Amino acid sequence: MVAPLCSICRKNQAMYVCRNCGRVVCSNCFEPSVWLCVDCFKRKASINPQVAIPEIPLLIKLLWTGFIFTFVGFALMMLATLTLGLASREAYIVLPGLIIPLSSEIAYAAVTCFFVIAIAIMVLFMLKFMK
Ligand SMILES: [Zn+2]
Ligand SMILES: [Zn+2]
Repeated sequence: MVAPLCSICRKNQAMYVCRNCGRVVCSNCFEPSVWLCVDCFKRKASINPQVAIPEIPLLIKLLWTGFIFTFVGFALMMLATLTLGLASREAYIVLPGLIIPLSSEIAYAAVTCFFVIAIAIMVLFMLKFMK
């Protein structure tokens, strides 16, 4: 029994069956890594790029960038206030539109809390978007 001819090139003997369209094809017209004939492979390759890499929405990227800048800005501001506050035994926590006078111990605890929360949020964001 002679093997059927490749249904793509019609020159060589068919050796494989495409798992997508079911045609018999020769080794020249077959992509063993995905078990598809070259036709189906080309079609898949032209569809896949959009499917394979889910785009992070631009808005979230901007929010994320904004968040990092805000965090860095506030961290620097708080460190500066804390350093000055500790030097004068009096600290001020600066929040948007709000200045709260505090004792240095409470200020230190508040800044520590802020850092822990901010770092936790950053780690969560990274886990979510940087898989
Ligand atoms: Zn062929
Ligand atoms: Zn096929």
